[in-house]
Amino acid sequence: MSSVDKDQYRVAREPYYQPQGNEVALYEAAYRNRLPVMVKGPTGCGKSRFVEYMAWKLGKPLITVACNEDMTASDLVGRYLLEANGTRWLDGPLTTAARIGAICYLDEIVEARQDTTVVIHPLTDHRRTLPLDKKGELIEAHPDFQLVISYNPGYQSLMKDLKQSTKQRFTAFDFDYPEAELETIILAKETGLDEATAGKLVKIGQTARNLKGHGLDEGISTRLLVYASTLIKDGIDPHDACRMALVRPITDDADIRETLDHAIDATF
Ligand code: ADP
Repeated sequence: MSSVDKDQYRVAREPYYQPQGNEVALYEAAYRNRLPVMVKGPTGCGKSRFVEYMAWKLGKPLITVACNEDMTASDLVGRYLLEANGTRWLDGPLTTAARIGAICYLDEIVEARQDTTVVIHPLTDHRRTLPLDKKGELIEAHPDFQLVISYNPGYQSLMKDLKQSTKQRFTAFDFDYPEAELETIILAKETGLDEATAGKLVKIGQTARNLKGHGLDEGISTRLLVYASTLIKDGIDPHDACRMALVRPITDDADIRETLDHAIDATF
């Protein structure tokens, strides 16, 4: 048995989540059947918030891992630590989640190297096991354990993509930036900004999203629109708030900046 305190991983308060369709019911069905879930979509469109909300709704602990290219299988599974009196095994986050019955959310899984990604395979099929090779232990996942990954198809390249053998172990949700009306509500509810101003920010966001592929790799995310809303709500002039939160972070291209600055000046 593990001595890990499950409660530290509980989502304490209900996160605000504005559904875009029937994803809540579909996730519940996936969880009921312990199917692994992949949430696909551009950065800052609500993937993590959705997973957090579902963990809260299902009353399950949530362990989130931000994946990166330096991550090794040991970072997920665990390792022996050298100590004064010898060595001590320390579970990695994936192992902890499998032991305590948490939802394990591997954020931006594509960032991880493929030899790291394969350690999740035995947890995603009927085996629901996790071999700790270095420790010589085979863990059977707790009945409540579920694996969730997020994935931004925009960054996909031949060098960096999930293998089919990994993809085909998951059910998937396609997320995107919410449509204008919903995004306006999200900005207003999340920051307390009035809906009229929020609607203007959403319009600027849409202008930028239309530039995707024409000089911009990604449009302005809902996350950045939330930042701009927060600044305006705090009393910052909308022009400054938009330049700081919406334009400067996403591009250094002078032409694109000018186009977006014009859109801001025309809106406010
Ligand atoms: P990512 O897709 O990168 O995981 P997040 O889930 O972190 O993005 O979303 C970024 C921010 O956008 C959130 O912190 C939240 O403020 C806001 N947001 C996006 N979509 C929603 C939504 N459907 N309901 C509530 N907030 C949302």
